[in-house]
Amino acid sequence: MPHLPEHLLAGYRNFMSGRYPAESGRYRSLAREGQAPETMIVACCDSRSAPEAIFDAGPGELFVLRNVGNLVPPYEPDGEYHSTSAALEFAVQSLKVKNIVVMGHGRCGGIRAALDTNSAPLSPGDFIGKWMSLIAPAAETVSSSTFMTATERQTALERISIRYSIANLRTFPCVSIIEGKGRLTLHGAWFDISTGELWVMNKETGDFERPEL
Ligand SMILES: [Zn+2]
Repeated sequence: MPHLPEHLLAGYRNFMSGRYPAESGRYRSLAREGQAPETMIVACCDSRSAPEAIFDAGPGELFVLRNVGNLVPPYEPDGEYHSTSAALEFAVQSLKVKNIVVMGHGRCGGIRAALDTNSAPLSPGDFIGKWMSLIAPAAETVSSSTFMTATERQTALERISIRYSIANLRTFPCVSIIEGKGRLTLHGAWFDISTGELWVMNKETGDFERPEL
């Protein structure tokens, strides 16, 4: 007897009676011709910041990679398991995406964990602690600022980590070479869950600004 939580089955019934019939032509052509998304999004796993919902994207439009804290690690061809780097390699080398957007969000639990180094790990493996240690130097600097409130520190590190991930993207030879040829553009964005506001990184200054809509 196949089994899924009832709310997932209910959602799937809605999909098959609504969205799938409306977009079946698109699904069939994507199945026939393969995917060719122009944009890769690196987003957080957080259930409140789904890129497909925020950008109102249909099937085949976005190549989405989600991990805790929307981090891109530096290029490390060391034979270890690098799921983020594998997705990046596929997006750039095979799909030849034209844009990569690193999208952070407000109230990020991963970022909060990076700032709160006193709390005990969730498991002996402390996978979150190890993963978020990628931004430990920035987290320590932000944590030590007594002029900022806890909320300001959180937002600051959320945005710093986006710039950090974009810098790490450029440590991948495949990214920096193709960007240098003008065939790939890197972007940063930050989504405020409570208001729905999207803030977009200014490429020159690194500041986050509201786009004209
Ligand atoms: Zn998050």
